[in-house]
Amino acid sequence: MVAMSPDELALLLQRLVDRLIRRCRLGPAPAQSPRRRFLVVQIDGLSRAVLEHALARGYMPFLARLLRRQGFRLEPMSVGLPTSTPAFQMGAFYGVEPDIPGFHYHDKRRGDDVYFPRGGDAAWVERTQTRGRRGILHEGSAYGCVFTGGAVNNLFNFTNLKRPTGAGLLRAVAAFVVLAWVLVKGVVLTLVELVRAVLRFLANPVGETARGWKWLAIKVGVSVWVRELFTLVTSRDLYAGVPAVYVNFLDYDVFAHAFGPRHRMALRSLRRIDRSLHALWRVVRRVPEHHYDVYVLADHGQTTTRPYPELSGGRRLERVILEDLLKPVGAMVQSPAQPRHRGLAQGIQAYRGQCTPGVLQRFINYLERDFPWAVGDLPEAEQRAGVRVVSAGPNAFVYFLTDREPVMLEELDRRFPGMADEISRSRGVGFVLARSGEGPVCLWRGKRYLVGHERGGPLFAGRPDGDLVVEGIRALMAMPSAGDLVLYGNDSPDGNISFIPELGAHAGPSAEEMQTFIVCPAGIALETPITRPTQLYPHFLAYQET
Ligand SMILES: [Zn+2]
Repeated sequence: MVAMSPDELALLLQRLVDRLIRRCRLGPAPAQSPRRRFLVVQIDGLSRAVLEHALARGYMPFLARLLRRQGFRLEPMSVGLPTSTPAFQMGAFYGVEPDIPGFHYHDKRRGDDVYFPRGGDAAWVERTQTRGRRGILHEGSAYGCVFTGGAVNNLFNFTNLKRPTGAGLLRAVAAFVVLAWVLVKGVVLTLVELVRAVLRFLANPVGETARGWKWLAIKVGVSVWVRELFTLVTSRDLYAGVPAVYVNFLDYDVFAHAFGPRHRMALRSLRRIDRSLHALWRVVRRVPEHHYDVYVLADHGQTTTRPYPELSGGRRLERVILEDLLKPVGAMVQSPAQPRHRGLAQGIQAYRGQCTPGVLQRFINYLERDFPWAVGDLPEAEQRAGVRVVSAGPNAFVYFLTDREPVMLEELDRRFPGMADEISRSRGVGFVLARSGEGPVCLWRGKRYLVGHERGGPLFAGRPDGDLVVEGIRALMAMPSAGDLVLYGNDSPDGNISFIPELGAHAGPSAEEMQTFIVCPAGIALETPITRPTQLYPHFLAYQET
């Protein structure tokens, strides 16, 4: 008798209950077809460089074992621009070149921002950009993803954060044994984290406790509850033979943003993801009749950044652009209205206007500062007199709203001579991208380079993957929703800068952001080299034809 972990016991119990219910109501289980199935484990935000570091340092012993002893191999993958989850998943899930220039951007034709955590935005993008194509997760499951990929089981995807798909929620709830077990385990692990935090607090009561408590909440939320839930619902799917399963573990990305991509806290989260991967592998081994191929991949990496306010005396980039760089050249005119606030946000707007009891006001202030999307507000976006500036990470966009189509650099030069060059020389800015009649232009510290001719200037010179950067910039500037000016904090004279407060960031062209990996089983043929997420689409779609 092989020893069973409590997780496995809970799943076994759940399968017995499942089978019993099926017997009672539907007769015997359907015969299994010989088709191949896939499980993709996405480790959000993990660059190949940090993966190699983690493998060498023993943070991911199970993945190391897969590579060493089970014949799995690691293929390099370059993910294009922007290095961001929605752009990657749109390409991989649907095979389309997306119009998704960042995690937060403005769509002039829609007359509104797209900010992925905001309810409805991801669903709108998925509806309008996939052009009726079939997703790779058709009849499958997607957990923790930006888009559904056509999955019928969806949990904690951005497309339905507030409203999980009926089937997804029902199936998750129906598997009550799994849920009960997640509850028990989650509570125990939460208590462990709480006790640890209290002990840390007692040891150092004046330390960074405020930050500590907030981090504890996020750690417990993302790392304990969400990961445990994902691991168990995915296990359940594997036992059931769901044809396509894609689970995105967010832990590493969250910690890398907060502490930096190579920080101890971020690396430790990899250890927990590795344990989940091991648990899923054990399930796959137990159901050989389902013929699962297991893949592990990352959608983008991260680079270490300094937050912009450190350079600007606490001012936000949007303000600096609008007040110091655009106003003096008269780049602001009377304009269309601000994007509207919706639902709850309207209510809160109303509250603000009144005399609100102190506690509630403080709570609203807190929400606005830490969870602006929860109150319907958009963070890091500001608009004045026809110009909208959106900061999305190490990237920011400037939109001239008077024009519905992108404004070319020649036209900007005519209207506001010297402005674009001035922005490229501004503190914390690495380079600025713009469109021109001859193709994308990179403005670098006041000089201009035609991208692809002079390899985008000194920034990309000498990089072995310089051609991929050029290709990525061309694709990015071909997106209608990319700003009339696209600013990057990468490689500024002050180091890599993120325009939102974070110590790790992504969206830009650094090797650590662009170069990731895909781990696949022996005998799997992948089209290599992989230089665009869209290359993954035909590979995973082919599973539906077997
Ligand atoms: Zn991220």
